[in-house]
Amino acid sequence: MFKLAIVGRPNVGKSTLFNRLVGRRLALVDDQPGVTRDLREGEARLGDLKFTVIDTAGLEDATDDSLQGRMRRLTERAVDMADACLFMIDARAGVTANDQLFAEILRRRAKTVILAANKAEGAAGSAGALEAYGLGLGEPLQLSGEHGEGMSELYSALLPLVDGHAEEIAAAELAALESAPDIDIDISDEDGEDFPEYDPKKPLQVAVVGRPNAGKSTLINQLLGEDRLLTGPEAGITRDSISVQVDWDGRPVRIFDTAGMRKKAKIQDKVEKLSVSDGLRAVRFAEVVVVLLDVEIPFEQQDLRIADLAEREGRAVVVGINKWDLEDHRQEKLAELKTAFERLLPQLRGAPLVTLSAKTGRGMDRLREAIERAHVTWNRRIPTAQLNRWLGAMLEAHPPPAPGGRRIKLRYMTQAKTRPPGFVVMCSHPDKLPDAYKRYLVNGLRQDFDMPGTPIRLWFRGQG
Ligand code: GDP
Ligand code: GDP
Repeated sequence: MFKLAIVGRPNVGKSTLFNRLVGRRLALVDDQPGVTRDLREGEARLGDLKFTVIDTAGLEDATDDSLQGRMRRLTERAVDMADACLFMIDARAGVTANDQLFAEILRRRAKTVILAANKAEGAAGSAGALEAYGLGLGEPLQLSGEHGEGMSELYSALLPLVDGHAEEIAAAELAALESAPDIDIDISDEDGEDFPEYDPKKPLQVAVVGRPNAGKSTLINQLLGEDRLLTGPEAGITRDSISVQVDWDGRPVRIFDTAGMRKKAKIQDKVEKLSVSDGLRAVRFAEVVVVLLDVEIPFEQQDLRIADLAEREGRAVVVGINKWDLEDHRQEKLAELKTAFERLLPQLRGAPLVTLSAKTGRGMDRLREAIERAHVTWNRRIPTAQLNRWLGAMLEAHPPPAPGGRRIKLRYMTQAKTRPPGFVVMCSHPDKLPDAYKRYLVNGLRQDFDMPGTPIRLWFRGQG
């Protein structure tokens, strides 16, 4: 059984989350050898996921002097027992010196760390979550253990980790598939079988990134101004230091303002060393990243780096080509940009290029459309039946190689996650499958299921 340890300093809300995950299914472990009563284990359930959760409780009565040492020892033990750690900080309190201490232990010792900013219900939580990026442990999940918020995000984070789970689903779905009458599903039918699971009432999170002077602030103001015109001055436009919420025909959209982040980071710098750049943080917050290029100096090193980062972080990417009003030879320029894009950013093949002028407002509709479309693709779910039909066709067209005379068998596949789409393929000798073959499958998925520009994750699991 997959084991998750919840670690963090006292009072961040570990036990509260533990209790929520475990309910009454608590297994007391006092009398097991090697495990002190400082650690509690329970059978956790989250949706259809089942796993063991370990709570590092029992520190409340520690005196200040002994606290750090005990905390360290206890955490190290929990970390060593677990397959992954949920590292919890208090979003309201922000990142403290003790949190830093834990981060250090985890960076050195833990196999996999999920960072969680707890107590994130309401508005008070986002500042602490922002600070949490500085821990260098990736994107913090914003949770509220007490109110049960963020559980679907936690589920998504755990899903690809919980051992054997993907195989179980795949096997069950495959069994159902085999016993079901043969339903003819046409894989060219793009949207009919999709059931995006996101909540359209939740704001779509967008970041605008790019080099200084690309026109990010102008673009954000343009998007904000347009919203004002559409919805009237009395409509609730909320603006805090890091994001602006706008309304696109009833769809709430939160735009991360990197200029605002910069200001905030400066204040925090005095207290905590924030090592990550504004762009990086914006990328991690966002679902869709708009990489804004200046048409006069497109694809600079910095642009490429941030676009690559967005892909690696699993964000949907839209490329905005700004200052299009300055361009005289538009057709030639666009062709040139497309070629450069394919060559320089092959990992984002097919991502939309939108020409626009943040200054005049031209192209805003197309940008909005591209963002919303990228978001839908990013959330896309493809039924297992359809995937396996597709896999069969791909294998037939190009059988996988047979290293040492034994052909690698790809048995079946299923989608394990969305945001971005991730798939698990069950196969013999996954370690021997060449990268070229993996690329063949990824590119095939992208093309046949119409997922341009979205990062696609493909995992290969060994089996038999
Ligand atoms: P632990 O020491 O890390 O196990 O923390 P506890 O689970 O005992 O929680 C410490 C305090 O934080 C308690 O007063 C909880 O009620 C409170 N708490 C836990 N989770 C949340 C949350 O999501 N939001 C808020 N506002 N308070 C919480
Ligand atoms: P940021 O540093 O990326 O936030 O860029 P700004 O929004 O501050 O813009 C940098 C400069 O580019 C300013 O002088 C803007 O007026 C100008 N600019 C922004 N968008 C456009 C555009 O679409 N066309 C033209 N011609 N200039 C623009």
